[in-house]
Amino acid sequence: MQKIDIAIAGCGIAGLAAALMLHRQGHRVTLYERFAEARPIGSGLMIQPTGLAVLDALGLAESAIARGAPVDGLWGLNIEGKPVLEAAYVDLPYSDAVGIGIHRASLFAALFDAVQAEGIAIETGREVTGTSVDTDGRTLSFVDGSASSGFDLVIDSLGVGSPLVPPADAILPFGALWATVDWPSSGPFNPRLLEQRYRRADQMVGLLPIGQGKAAFFWSMKGQDYEGWKNRGMAAFYEEVCTLWPALAPVMEQLTDPEQLTLARYAHRTSPHATGDRIAHIGDSWHAASPQLGQGANMALLDARGLAVAMENSGDLEEALSTYVRLRASHVRLYQALTWLFTPPFQSDSIWPAIFRDLFMAPASRVPPGPALKAHLVAGLAGARLSELDLAKPDYTALNQSEPRISSRADALAQS
Ligand SMILES: Cc1cc2nc3c(=O)[nH]c(=O)nc-3n(C[C@H](O)[C@H](O)[C@H](O)COP(=O)(O)OP(=O)(O)OC[C@H]3O[C@@H](n4cnc5c(N)ncnc54)[C@H](O)[C@@H]3O)c2cc1C
Repeated sequence: MQKIDIAIAGCGIAGLAAALMLHRQGHRVTLYERFAEARPIGSGLMIQPTGLAVLDALGLAESAIARGAPVDGLWGLNIEGKPVLEAAYVDLPYSDAVGIGIHRASLFAALFDAVQAEGIAIETGREVTGTSVDTDGRTLSFVDGSASSGFDLVIDSLGVGSPLVPPADAILPFGALWATVDWPSSGPFNPRLLEQRYRRADQMVGLLPIGQGKAAFFWSMKGQDYEGWKNRGMAAFYEEVCTLWPALAPVMEQLTDPEQLTLARYAHRTSPHATGDRIAHIGDSWHAASPQLGQGANMALLDARGLAVAMENSGDLEEALSTYVRLRASHVRLYQALTWLFTPPFQSDSIWPAIFRDLFMAPASRVPPGPALKAHLVAGLAGARLSELDLAKPDYTALNQSEPRISSRADALAQS
């Protein structure tokens, strides 16, 4: 395919990854970002083996690993202390796999530093409001009334609020408060586990190691309850959290001001079209979901990879766009459906999803092939078509193995 002019709208995870791949293929890439300085928002996230495979192909896996923390699995107990969510990467066919807990700023920095080092053009302070096609190609329009020159292709990586797709109508009732805290050195926490505690499905608290001595703390909360929570004060919050998970006291002692916590709202939406005339939507602008399965950033990286592989192997843009959809649509549909199904058992006002989770879902998932299936789902590997995306399993021996690995359910139980 001949080299073309590409505008990438949005300097998030999807946009930065796509910029690197397409620039390396020789296309002329310009990134547009609304902020005056490109910057990340948010706290911790999980890089799954899928996302790590993309970072590895970009030559950035080691840099991401060095900035984050290797995680062996997810471990969730209900208020009675019974395990109701256990997923271990050791149950994957290649048992040296791990996930990476990382601060969003660290993942952003790994990608952004590479974009800058390769001299890719970035226009900041450019808030995109729309796009249109004319004889010069596809243009972007901006909030100040100006417009870009024409491009052969516009990539929409503007995230969940993209003005280039129909607005998300399904804002989920539950979001979460997030904060970055110091890793609690006192307490029974394992630095290689993402741990959660649940009371029914209406309270969930979690701690994710994100490396560099830090952890991401999260507490699920309905958007409408936020003001009431602020008014009740931090002493009441301390009590509430420590009643559910007493060991979290050293974390809660660090949280003394509501301003230390950010409320994140989630939307569930899949845009009807991933592509159009000289446009491709990647990441959250195509498909947004709650972070219950921890896939969003990984899906964004896979989309960028899918589009780049399609561009590399197609004769023209039209063929590339349809190949992109073929490579990614079934994985996107599967994980959108799974996230829709798995969110209520962990975030809901109703008691029934939690009863179903504790009595049926958790015991059934321990019977083979339940553990391997769960590990595949959490790792993002189910239906991911890695070989068609020209991706290989990352070299996990490069990971820091300084802490003992969690290698079985019994290990996790013993350490929890
Ligand atoms: C609290 C929380 C926890 C999460 N945890 C996980 C997890 O554990 N694992 C995981 O994989 N995913 C997680 N996710 C989801 C993940 O963060 C997203 O799926 C991912 O960031 C999507 O990347 P993106 O590049 O599509 O969008 P974004 O990262 O949102 O990037 C969009 C970019 O576009 C810019 N932009 C937006 N609008 C405009 C505009 N009009 N004009 C110009 N620029 C604009 C933004 O400033 C931003 O730079 C979580 C999300 C949240 C909110």
